[in-house]
Amino acid sequence: MENSKLHVAILSSPGMGHLIPVLNLGNRLVNHHNVEVTILVVSTTSSPAESQILKSTTSQNQLNIIEIPPVDISSLIDPKTTMVTQLCIMMRAARLGIRSTIAAMKRCPDVLVVDLFGTEAFPIADEFGMPKYVYIPTNAWFTALSTYCQVLDKEIEGEYVDQKEALKIPGCKPVRPEDVVDPMLDRNNQQYREYVRQGIGFTMGDAILLNTWEDLECTSLKALRENEILRSIVKVPVYTIGPLKRSAEPTGSKSRLIEWLDRQPSESVIFVSFGSGGMLSAQQISELAWGLELSQQRFVWVVRPPTEGGADGSFFTVGNGSDGIPDYLPDGFLTRTHSVGLLVPQWGPQMEILSHPSVGGFLSHCGWNSTLESIGSGVPMIAWPLYAEQRLNATMLTEELGIAIRPEVLPTKKVVGREEIEKMVRTLMQYKEGKAMRDRAKELKYSAENALSNEGSSYKSISVVLEGCQKKLLSRNNV
Ligand code: UDP
Repeated sequence: MENSKLHVAILSSPGMGHLIPVLNLGNRLVNHHNVEVTILVVSTTSSPAESQILKSTTSQNQLNIIEIPPVDISSLIDPKTTMVTQLCIMMRAARLGIRSTIAAMKRCPDVLVVDLFGTEAFPIADEFGMPKYVYIPTNAWFTALSTYCQVLDKEIEGEYVDQKEALKIPGCKPVRPEDVVDPMLDRNNQQYREYVRQGIGFTMGDAILLNTWEDLECTSLKALRENEILRSIVKVPVYTIGPLKRSAEPTGSKSRLIEWLDRQPSESVIFVSFGSGGMLSAQQISELAWGLELSQQRFVWVVRPPTEGGADGSFFTVGNGSDGIPDYLPDGFLTRTHSVGLLVPQWGPQMEILSHPSVGGFLSHCGWNSTLESIGSGVPMIAWPLYAEQRLNATMLTEELGIAIRPEVLPTKKVVGREEIEKMVRTLMQYKEGKAMRDRAKELKYSAENALSNEGSSYKSISVVLEGCQKKLLSRNNV
């Protein structure tokens, strides 16, 4: 009986931002589509948060988790190698381990789903006769840009960021030069070549699965499916299966943080967090602290020590306080704000916080998981993009969806000052404009819930994909 279930293997590239959406997909397939799922995790030295999430997933006994033995890529990189390039190199190097892991599995998977860094594992699926899919855990606009980049690469001269006009993506909202994804910032860097190659890889499977839903991104989805030029690149079907996000996991006893939130008025707290790896400079942290204090609004802030390097935390950090009080916060900040604010060091239970009724705003780096978690909780945002495709997401949230405001300067280019932060926080939490964004965020929350319901577009898309797999397997077995 058990073996009659479809067995799907989902390959996760390293990093919490990749592992979390893969686990979300796995849980969705198991809980709503009666599928057996094995997660193949390519891990580096996993962080405590990563180990914790893997441990709790394993203990829930829903998903089989297999860690692919880490590969040493140190001879292939140098200190300047970007995270994107490292991920691509690592995923290529892991192919041997992925292959032997699949070959050694007691029950070979029927289907291989890879995340956006995993398409080079497609030949393994071919070898084992498995249908193969790429799961891009972000949005359709990003996917259109990524797949079309191979054309932009030929047509546009010079750096994208120096272009005078927005980049035209057929059928989609144009991309402003300053909004391009990180790998497009410097065409001479290896990560740009990797990115173009990745976009080509997206089109090499049997279909593309996106963590978005039909009503959220009608224009970009129509373009991916119907625009002649894009269609000539993206020949495979595009399915929306989202928004897949974690649900809040109630822990046995309430944490001090949740108890504190319980005591605050409804929708009065702004949550401040920059994803799994986002970091700010010392000066920016100080301005943010002042801005929060001046706004006189309640807040929960996941604080990390400042970085002197990249906003994705890929460089060294400075200034860890040794007495437990971070020395990078303004003098007396903790004392002055202790009745209205709570600091959480390093990592907080984001879903529990966002879904708490006291939380009414989210100052976020706009990673797609965070974006979906905010929408899924009906919480409007201050969009503070830092890296990857977050500038695109921020533009979508502010200009198309109308559920966020953003600073006038790009936070990675210039320090956002305390007055502007104070103003944005007040606007979001106190003023009519913020209330309108909150109402809109709640509408999107219901639209998201509809998409996932049994009659909804995302539920149906997954069912169509799984039926397609069954058919392919039947015809394979009958040959
Ligand atoms: N996250 C969390 N606690 C934190 C920081 C992040 O639970 O303190 C989770 C967050 O809920 C989200 C993921 O980590 O699911 C971050 O993914 P996202 O796509 O937003 O950003 P990335 O980390 O990939 O930049």
